[in-house]
Amino acid sequence: MIVDGHVHVFFEGSDPEEFFTGCARLAAVIFNKESRETQDPQELLQTFMPVLGDPTADKLIGYMDEAGIDRAVLLPLDFFLGCDEPAVGEKKTITIEEKNRLFTSFVAKHKGRLFSYFGIDPRRKGALELFRKGVEEWGMIGLKLHPTTGFYPHDPVCYPFYQAAQEMGVPVLIHSGTEPAPLKPMYSQPCFIDTVAADFPELKIIIAHCGHGWWEEAIDMATSKPNLYVDFSGWQSQYSGHPDYYYRSLRVALDMLGPWRVIFGTDGSMTNFMVWPKDWVAANREPNSPSGIKFSQEEMEIVLGGAAARLYGWE
Ligand SMILES: [Zn+2]
Repeated sequence: MIVDGHVHVFFEGSDPEEFFTGCARLAAVIFNKESRETQDPQELLQTFMPVLGDPTADKLIGYMDEAGIDRAVLLPLDFFLGCDEPAVGEKKTITIEEKNRLFTSFVAKHKGRLFSYFGIDPRRKGALELFRKGVEEWGMIGLKLHPTTGFYPHDPVCYPFYQAAQEMGVPVLIHSGTEPAPLKPMYSQPCFIDTVAADFPELKIIIAHCGHGWWEEAIDMATSKPNLYVDFSGWQSQYSGHPDYYYRSLRVALDMLGPWRVIFGTDGSMTNFMVWPKDWVAANREPNSPSGIKFSQEEMEIVLGGAAARLYGWE
């Protein structure tokens, strides 16, 4: 079974405009790294939004079919409080409750293929009740937190959520690593997530993106805390820029943690422009390290799906 353990769905109004502009600024640089031509981010946004926008999650199913991905774990994002749009969802966008409900409708529509976390900024009023409802009534399978909007994972505001997740028996996935402006990665350093793992040793916590540039720290933390997992989603730009940067980090994670706490993911759809999902699956199914770093077929099968299947009880 191949599982995309970390994927998003974007569409017009799904997330703050400032966030999309930040992504476009980043994309403009990535695409023109060699030519150094300048490209207007807003213009680029006009190009990629119609391609990546997926208000029904049907495009995602198409990518999955093409890549041979059996199941995907959706992560609703809540960037609004970090993007100068405190009147969340009142005008331009849907509310965070509507957004999470919409994700459950994707799951219902694509039963057995899609599963969704509940995503919220824990500083919102009524967030905890909504999270409980998300899991207990709407069937969501975990909690997604994105500290880059301006809170630390070990902030007391988050603790009731961890308590609730532990009680309900669902994992928590916490973003860690780079993120375009106006979001601030500082809050998401793995050592802060480690503090949560120390206080909730029974709670399964996934350090998303293996902390990107903090990958060694993420692996170090997970080495001493068996309840910490890492996912290697969103490494497509590292992989395409310098393949062995990806393979070396993955190799170290596998050597230190074993394959059962290392999870594959695309972090699509924004990353699809860098490496298409089917090529990202291929880069992991048949690793092709320029310097000959080796992976066994068995361990890559676990990374590509076995680890997530065990974590979510799908075995
Ligand atoms: Zn993500």
